[in-house]
Amino acid sequence: MSRFPDVRFLISAAAAAQFPPDNGAEVAFAGRSNAGKSSAINAIVQRRALARTSKAPGRTRLLNFFEVMPHGRIVDLPGYGYASAPESERRTWAPLIDALRARRSLSGLFLIVDARRGISASDQGLIAWADPGERGVHVLLSKIDKLTRSEAARALQAASAQVAAAVSVQIFSAHASTGVAAAQGKLAEWLANKKTPVSSNEDTGAD
Ligand code: GDP
Repeated sequence: MSRFPDVRFLISAAAAAQFPPDNGAEVAFAGRSNAGKSSAINAIVQRRALARTSKAPGRTRLLNFFEVMPHGRIVDLPGYGYASAPESERRTWAPLIDALRARRSLSGLFLIVDARRGISASDQGLIAWADPGERGVHVLLSKIDKLTRSEAARALQAASAQVAAAVSVQIFSAHASTGVAAAQGKLAEWLANKKTPVSSNEDTGAD
């Protein structure tokens, strides 16, 4: 049985004014382009193609909101790390993700990091942006099926040593279903932690 049976797409937001009401709890998913973020989201919510794994630049630069349980959302952030991303694009999305961080419902950040590459400077930037301690930060070391068991253990150790104690790290593979249950558990825990009151007139339609 699916852990999140009622997942649905809400909106691709190009401006903060389009964000859904700031109620309940929200968890952001971020990572370098190609880190395996879309595959991770799809594996965690058990939908084959909820988040797009194809690269459609116009779409991936937007913040995509999905409702995964009543008053519990995930937000798929644009992949970063393309040196070629035009400055104009970066100027657009920086204020957008800052507006996201200002939301009271933002309970945590899932950061997807290719286990073969490890945590980069831009990943560290995202972790700092999320302000661990203020909200949860959980790193998925993705594509772990590409590593041997001892390489995976080393990658986990190295990544854990690179982040503050408040940041949790786990190994993950969308293809081999490694660590999916643990990631689902973390997501469910954060979404259950509703920081903001939910009023009936802001009901998002879950029934
Ligand atoms: P995104 O750009 O971060 O959303 O990454 P995608 O989910 O689109 O994946 C990028 C590439 O990595 C694709 O070719 C995927 O098939 C591949 N990939 C994603 N997850 C895994 C995994 O668990 N194992 C392996 N071996 N490849 C993966």
